[in-house]
Order: sequence, then C-alpha cells, then structure tokens
Amino acid sequence: MIRHSDFERTMSYAEKAVGHLKANQVPASPRNYELWYTYVSGFNRALNRALNEAITRYGSVPESVLQEIYEQFLSPSRITDRVQAVGDDFLKEFERVIGAIDEAKGSTSSYGKTLENAAQSLVGAHDRDQVKRVAQMLISSTKEMEARSKALEEQLSESRKQIDTLQENLEAVRSETITDALTGIANRKHFDETIKKAIKEAREIEEPLTLVLGDIDHFKNFNDSFGHQTGDQVLRLVAHALKTNVKGRDLAARYGGEEFAVILPQTNLQNAVTVADQIRKTILAKELVKKSTGESLGTITMSFGAASLRPDDTVDSLIARADKCLYAAKKAGRNQVKSEADADIGDLSDVA
Ligand code: GH3
Ligand code: MG
Ligand code: MG
Repeated sequence: MIRHSDFERTMSYAEKAVGHLKANQVPASPRNYELWYTYVSGFNRALNRALNEAITRYGSVPESVLQEIYEQFLSPSRITDRVQAVGDDFLKEFERVIGAIDEAKGSTSSYGKTLENAAQSLVGAHDRDQVKRVAQMLISSTKEMEARSKALEEQLSESRKQIDTLQENLEAVRSETITDALTGIANRKHFDETIKKAIKEAREIEEPLTLVLGDIDHFKNFNDSFGHQTGDQVLRLVAHALKTNVKGRDLAARYGGEEFAVILPQTNLQNAVTVADQIRKTILAKELVKKSTGESLGTITMSFGAASLRPDDTVDSLIARADKCLYAAKKAGRNQVKSEADADIGDLSDVA
C-alpha cells in the first residue's frame, strides 16, 4: 500500500513537473514529463546540472535540447534494460527449444524399443490373434509418435515466431541507439563509429573517402526571430535534404546542434563537392513556412567544408581539415561549399 507521505511527495513532484512543462511550453509527452519529474525529484544530479545549464542558456528550454538531455541521462539505461530483457527472452526461448528436443529424443528411443519388442513378439507369435495384438500395439504407438512429432513441430514453429519477434525488438533497440531523435538521421555516436570504419576500409580497398561538414548559416538569428520550435523544424528539413541527396553507403549524420556531416566512401573530393552543393541548393530552394500560422519565413542557407582522406590522417585530422574548409566557407560569405582544393581556405598545415 502506498504510504501517505509517498503520496504527497510524489504528487508534489508531479505538480512541479507539469509546472515546468507549462513554463517551457513543451508537449506533456511521457519523455518530457519523465525528464522534468526526474529534475524536480533531484535524484539525478548530472541531469539536473545539464538542465540547469540549458535553462541558463535558453531561458525556456526547447524540445530538441530536452530530447538530447533525455538521450544522455535517461534513455541509455532504458536501452540497456531493454537489451537485457530481450537477451533473457532469447535464453528462455532457447531453453524451451532444447527441452522440446530432449523430450523428442526420449520418445524416439522409446518408440524404437517398442518396435524391437514388437519384432520379437512377432517372431514368437503362434496365432493370428497374437499377430493382431502386436499390430494394434504398433498402430497405437505410431499414432502416439505422430502426435508427439506434430506437437514438437508446432512448438518449434511457435519458438521460431518468438525468436523472429525478439530479433525485430533487438533491431528496433539498435536503430534507436544510433538515430538522432529530433531529425531521424544518424546521431553523433553512429557518425563516430562509421567514420572510423570508413577510414579503415578506404585504406584496405585503396579507394578515396571524403568527409563533408555543414553548418546552418546564422541559425542563432533564426532561432531568436522565430523561436526554437521553428528552429527544430529547420533542423528536420536540413536532415531531409541531406538524406535525399546521399545514397548507398554514404552516411548523413547530425554532428552537433546545427552541424551536420556526410561520410562519402569511394568518393573523391570533386564528386563530394558536387554532392554538398546539391544539398546546399536543395536547402536554398525550400521556402520556409511556419506550420502554425502559414507565415512565410523566407529561406535558410548552409555552408559546407569538404576534405579527403590522406595517408597519414587520423579521424581527428580529417575532421579538423573539413572543419577548416567549412570555416573558410563561412568567412567567404556563407551559403557555399569550400574544399581543400580551393586556394582561399587558408593554411591547413596546422590541422593536416
Ligand atoms: P554561423 O552562420 O556562423 O554558423 O552562425 P550561427 O548563428 O548559425 O552560429 P552559432 O554557432 O553562433 O549558433 C548556433 C545556434 O544554433 C545556437 C543555437 O541557438 C542553435 N541551435 C543549436 N542546436 C539547436 C537545436 O537543437 N535546436 C534549435 N532550435 N537550435 C539549435
Ligand atoms: Mg555552429
Ligand atoms: Mg551556424
């Protein structure tokens, strides 16, 4: 039974959490509620520190930032729990299958013995009645054996279905851990893993690899003028433009707040610049319309930097060069792509 003090304490957390949801004008989704509930309960100090920082920075914390904090402090333990649960279910299912197989082995060997006995009885049989009895016994144990086999078959096919579902669950958990919740494209963690693998593979197969980094122009102004909710919509739009302009083995990822990355295996610098420019044009061509009011917000632009893998590169040095090119694109007036091949990107020696 719930103690009265528990009731009062938790109700007061609940009321405070709802107060924060209202003050920040974010939807009262279970995630947002959980986040603010955890905050007011004060149980998770790291989460509180992150939220306090966000409050200082944003005043009213946008949903995208809430989502990031949720991912960082609440979601991972959930995912671990879910993976553990799927693992436990897998084990249970395997035990069931092994149990069923053991049982089948047992009934097969007892059926074997029945056949042997029947054969002996037939050798010593003197009259038709005796033969008939043996035949009847054989028929009934064969039927029994058939029924057992059928039950085993059904059980195995049931287990197969269960295992397929578990596999799907596992796949869903995996895809959640590598996806950015706001934009639906790869998250930073997935980017970090993929760039490492891509570099290794490019070296093995001796093919080029190009990295493109992009950053939305004057996004702070945009947020300040139209609000973070609308800013979040722009981030989704940019992610969509990235996704529709890359294909096959390329990976489009959200690298940070309003920064994006595209990993382009087997692609030289020149072709990667073409892809980046295509993304740039796609974004530029979109007229932004505020969903709630239909008001036109004009267009946004994005700048890009591209660098190709060199023999002595590390992950960091490749990223640093792409970043330097991006910086050059900003300096040159934004809304453009700069690559290492451009003359005006400044000195790369400190990052090369
Ligand atoms: P520049 O052209 O030099 O890139 O200017 P900028 O204003 O885009 O650059 P700056 O790095 O100063 O600002 C980035 C802004 O992006 C700060 C923050 O308001 C916004 N931002 C970062 N992450 C998010 C997010 O998840 N959602 C929203 N709505 N805004 C974000
Ligand atoms: Mg930025
Ligand atoms: Mg920016």
